[in-house]
Amino acid sequence: FAKKKQGDAIQLFNNALLNTFKTDAKIERDLQTALKGREFELYYQPLKDLKQRKYIGAEALIRWHHPKSGVLYPGAFIDIAEQTGMITAIGEWVLEAACKQLNLWQHHNLNLSMHVNVSAKQFFSASLYDQVWQLVTRYRLKPNTLILEITETELMEDVVYATNLCKELAELGVGLAIDDFGTGYSSMRYLKQFPISKLKIDRSFISDLGVSHESREIVSAIIAMASALNISLTAEGVETTEQEQFLSGLNCHQAQGFLYSPALREAEFSAFLEESLLQKLH
Ligand code: C2E
Ligand code: MG
Ligand code: MG
Ligand code: MG
Repeated sequence: FAKKKQGDAIQLFNNALLNTFKTDAKIERDLQTALKGREFELYYQPLKDLKQRKYIGAEALIRWHHPKSGVLYPGAFIDIAEQTGMITAIGEWVLEAACKQLNLWQHHNLNLSMHVNVSAKQFFSASLYDQVWQLVTRYRLKPNTLILEITETELMEDVVYATNLCKELAELGVGLAIDDFGTGYSSMRYLKQFPISKLKIDRSFISDLGVSHESREIVSAIIAMASALNISLTAEGVETTEQEQFLSGLNCHQAQGFLYSPALREAEFSAFLEESLLQKLH
């Protein structure tokens, strides 16, 4: 009986695994057609400067207009793209599209910065620096307007390489932000060594502000540390005015979250900015 039960379990496991493989293989094929068929689109989530009380930039977030499944969020395909290596081509497309958009904004005298997520594979690939250099040159991007985001755990995969690359990017005028800060392998020791321009406090700490004394202490410690090290700081996932007030009270520079806006298509993002400027004038 035990043997049969175990057999069933294995069978069940195999079926589940097989289905995962089937869907992954299908997603992989779909990803390839998606790149060719222009099914990806960058959405832009506004970033607010809490002191100046205005929007100063955006984070580019990828969306996939899947012909059958509708709009897919990165959670549904970025991992598979990473495992299959497709992330390199997708990441190149993302960087190019974001820089093109940033150039358009600058052309229209919009003083905005652009945050772009990069995966470890992309960050540590030999071609990243050249690609960024070419984009910065071709689109004549103003210094310090392009910021790459990477998680601390990913950054730590090769500290020596990452330090050098950060320095070279900094010389190009390209910033580096640590995404989801506080959730990964801690990098306190390296904070002084990396020329990091920004920390983004993970949204789990922000969503806990109202209920967790510990989260409040952690967030205020991160804010104090960033300020002492002269690193700029963004709070992710701000959803309520209470959270915003807490952050402003501690002199947190910037915030991003559904309180202001989710990520928007480019036309909607522009309309959002215009609307916010009009409101400020009145
Ligand atoms: P992330 O870089 O930490 O981006 C922030 C995520 O939090 C976004 O999810 C955003 O929509 C969501 N978010 C923003 N404000 C709020 C809020 O107030 N409440 C809540 N609950 N969520 C909020 P999204 O767009 O689904 O992206 C998920 C992750 O996928 C990103 O996390 C990023 O790591 C990755 N990703 C997105 N675009 C790209 C890309 O172009 N390339 C790579 N490599 N990764 C990407
Ligand atoms: Mg990010
Ligand atoms: Mg991220
Ligand atoms: Mg994040």
